[in-house]
Amino acid sequence: MASQSEPDYVFKVIIVGDSFVGKTCTLIQRSERYFKKDYSATIGLDFRATDIIIGNSKVKLQIWDTAGQERFRAFVKVYYRDSDGICIMFDKSSRESFDHVDGWIKDIDKEVENKNQIRILVGNKADLKSVVINEEANIKAEKYNMDYVEISAKENYQVDFLFEALAFRLLERG
Ligand code: GDP
Ligand code: MG
Repeated sequence: MASQSEPDYVFKVIIVGDSFVGKTCTLIQRSERYFKKDYSATIGLDFRATDIIIGNSKVKLQIWDTAGQERFRAFVKVYYRDSDGICIMFDKSSRESFDHVDGWIKDIDKEVENKNQIRILVGNKADLKSVVINEEANIKAEKYNMDYVEISAKENYQVDFLFEALAFRLLERG
């Protein structure tokens, strides 16, 4: 299949989570294949598209990057509604960012009636010394009926796996 061909499926995905957990770096690693070291806060929303081949299907994910700052939350809410998938990201080296996962899910649930939406819990910065262990992340993910994936945007560890798993789940859902 030619990579220029039209996608068979297009899904809209958003990445949410506290500021500084690595949302923008993850997206840049996936779409541009490098680790962006210098921190620059994302203002509002930005998106990048990435293609994934699953079996005989070409899946295009339109991935929306959000700013984690409180002041942008209201703005982002509109985008929860018509997204097919949501990555809820925390930083494995930050207990606070993990504790805030419940708040992010509450925010999403307030806006989204589409229970068909696929959600994945993402623990980034697996290259650093973890204060949040995978076992508790798995417990939290199970509580909300999500999968859990640990990644490192810096080391490009399981970044592709994350988006492939998401695309697979979205296809499965139809
Ligand atoms: P965002 O606010 O969630 O978009 O976070 P950014 O993607 O801007 O990243 C915030 C900071 O964390 C930056 O200084 C990045 O260099 C750093 N960072 C992002 N991902 C990783 C990672 O996987 N490992 C490490 N060690 N640092 C990371
Ligand atoms: Mg950002």
